[in-house]
Amino acid sequence: MSCVASYNFESRIALVTGASRGIGKRICRDLLSSNCRVLGTFASNEEVAEQCRIDLSEFEDNFLLKKSDVALKDNVAIIFDYAVEAWGDPVSLLVNNAGILEQGDFDLLSAEAWDTTLGVNLRGPFLLSQGFIRQISGSGVIVNMSSVGGQMGGEKAPDYAASKAALISLTKSVARIGSKVGVRSNAVAPGWIETDIFTDSRLAELKEEAKNVIPLQRMGCSSEVARAVLFLLSDEASYITGHCLNVNGGIYLG
Ligand code: NAP
Repeated sequence: MSCVASYNFESRIALVTGASRGIGKRICRDLLSSNCRVLGTFASNEEVAEQCRIDLSEFEDNFLLKKSDVALKDNVAIIFDYAVEAWGDPVSLLVNNAGILEQGDFDLLSAEAWDTTLGVNLRGPFLLSQGFIRQISGSGVIVNMSSVGGQMGGEKAPDYAASKAALISLTKSVARIGSKVGVRSNAVAPGWIETDIFTDSRLAELKEEAKNVIPLQRMGCSSEVARAVLFLLSDEASYITGHCLNVNGGIYLG
């Protein structure tokens, strides 16, 4: 699906975490098409990252993709400085999109796995939001990628669900804090979106289940999530802060 709304971000700089594939890659493409400069990050998969650079090469120097684990505190200052070094301007749009999901049996969920999930999905957005507010000059916008799992719970991944619920709370806290320095903070809560976050077999199951479980009778796609993110980043959403926007085909009507 193509991006129907068109925005002009007037060469602002966006930092998009988890940008090398899936929803993050689509957000990057749509931002780049809307006159934004984009610094994307990924965790470890260099091959996928290189393919992303090739796929978005039409945007030339307006797109940079850097390996940077969001869970590591020391990376925060480095990544914000990197944007200034590259383009001479600070980041003014932040999309905390990176996230990990491991599904399994609750009884087998280890404390270490719990910490890893919370480290990427919650601590990462906290650290980057703090760093973002420290370096902001003028107005800024944050969008956090939550999940329907955070709203409904998830028996196959309670760590993931808890991280995404807490991310909605963080979004609201940062909305209050950010309002004093010109920063809006919102979340998007996607439902079931077709990406590599699921194994092939799980994806096949979800596609079938979606026909019965989701009111709109299908899984969503990355462009439908990206559209919501761009709206919240844009001035069209200038009076919206502390909100969580569902993009879920009606599976959760909260
Ligand atoms: P995906 O296809 O698995 O892509 C994940 C991206 O995040 C990759 O670029 C990955 O890089 C990066 N990443 C993972 N850990 C990272 C870390 N520690 N630091 C920096 N980057 C990291 O995921 P997706 O489906 O597009 O999901 C994107 C976001 O939407 C996630 O927050 C997810 O929880 C949320 N979401 C997804 C769905 C869905 O149904 N797909 C539903 C609700 C919410 P590498 O390739 O290097 O690992």
